[in-house]
Amino acid sequence: MTNILFTNFCIFVTFLYLSGLLSKKYVAGVVTPSTTVKINAGLLFGIYGIILMYYSFPIDPRFFADLRHLAIVVIASYLGWLPSLIAGVLIALGRMILFGMSASSAIAGAGMLLIGMICGTLSRTRWDRLTKMMIMSVSSMLVLLFIMWMNIQNHQKVFAVFTQHLIISVLATVVIYMLTEYIHTSNKLFLQMKKNAETDHLTSLHNLRQFEQLLSERFLEAQHFSERLGVLVVDIDHFKKINDTYGHAAGDVVLQQLSKVLREHSRSFDEVSRNGGEEFSVLVPEATIDETAAIAERIRAAVERHVFVLEDGTRLRITVSIGAAVHPDTVRSKDAKELLQQADHELYRAKNSGRNRVCSAVEINDLVLS
Ligand code: GH3
Ligand code: MG
Ligand code: MG
Repeated sequence: MTNILFTNFCIFVTFLYLSGLLSKKYVAGVVTPSTTVKINAGLLFGIYGIILMYYSFPIDPRFFADLRHLAIVVIASYLGWLPSLIAGVLIALGRMILFGMSASSAIAGAGMLLIGMICGTLSRTRWDRLTKMMIMSVSSMLVLLFIMWMNIQNHQKVFAVFTQHLIISVLATVVIYMLTEYIHTSNKLFLQMKKNAETDHLTSLHNLRQFEQLLSERFLEAQHFSERLGVLVVDIDHFKKINDTYGHAAGDVVLQQLSKVLREHSRSFDEVSRNGGEEFSVLVPEATIDETAAIAERIRAAVERHVFVLEDGTRLRITVSIGAAVHPDTVRSKDAKELLQQADHELYRAKNSGRNRVCSAVEINDLVLS
C-alpha cells in the first residue's frame, strides 16, 4: 500500500505543479479569474479526479479506496462553487462511463455530485483555507461512508475500512494544503512583483520600463501588419512652480489627477505611461498623424479645462505641452527610438513656441498608405 500511496502523492504533486503553472496569471486576490477560467479549472480537476480513480489503494484485500474527492476539495477551496460542481459532475460521469453502469456505480456517481455540491457550498464560507479544506475533506468522507454503507453488506467492515480511509484522506489534505499554499503564495508574489516592476507607484500608470517594452512590441506589430503607430509625449508646463508654491506632496496629487485625465481622454486601447517626473506618454495605434494630433489636442484641452483639487481644498489649473509623431506618416525608420525622438523633438518645439499646445511632426508626402 505504501507504494501506491507514494504514487498518489507524486500524482498530486504533478497535478498541483501543472495547475500552478497554468494559473500563474490568475491568482485570486491579484487577478480575478473569469468564468471561463473557472469552467476550465473545473474540467481539469474533474480529469484529475478521474485519473486518481485509477490509482486506488487497497485498505484491505477486498476494499480499495482513492483520493478523487480531494481534487474537488482543492478546486472548491481556491476557485469556489462553479469549478467544484463541474469537477463533481465530470468525476461522476467518469465513474459511470469508465467503470460501467450498475446500481453501485450510480450511487458512487451521485455521491461525487453531492461532494461537488457540498464543497461548492462550503467554499462560500469565510473560514481560513486549511479549515475549509479540512471540513470539505471530512464532509466528502462522510458522503463516501454513506456510499460504502449502501454498497457493502458487512457494516462492521465498513467502519474499519472507513477509519483508515479517513486518516489517509485527512493526512493527504494537510500535505495538499501545504503544497497548494506554497504554489499559490509564490504565484501571488510573482504577479505582485511583476505588477510592481511594470507600474508607476504614484499614478498606477505604466512606468518607463513598461513603456519601452510596449513601444518596441507595438512598433514590431505595427510593422508586421503594415499599421500605424503614434506616440504622444506630454509634459506639464511650469510644474516646478506648483511644487514651489504648494509643496511636493501637492505636486504628487496633481500628477495623480492628471494621470486620470490622460486615461479618460485617450482611447480605451491607447497605452498611457508616466515616463518619469512630470512627463507622460501615450501610445496611439492605428491613427494617422492628423487623427493622432486631434487626440493630442483633445487631451490638451481637457487638461486646460480640468480643475485640480489639492488635499486642503485648493483648486488650481495646469496646462500641458504635447509632441506627436506617427510611424510611418512622419518617420520611416525601422527603429522605434526614432519615433520617440521625433515626438520628443515636437514637445521641445511646443515648449519653445509658448507651451500649452500640440506640435506634430510633418507628414512625409510620398506615402502610399491610405
Ligand atoms: P517646463 O514647462 O519647461 O516643462 O517647466 P517645468 O517646471 O515643468 O520643468 P522642469 O524640468 O524645470 O521641472 C520639473 C519639475 O518636476 C522638477 C521636479 O521637482 C518636479 N518633479 C519631478 N518628479 C516629481 C514627482 O514625482 N513629484 C513631484 N511633486 N514633483 C516632481
Ligand atoms: Mg514640465
Ligand atoms: Mg519635464
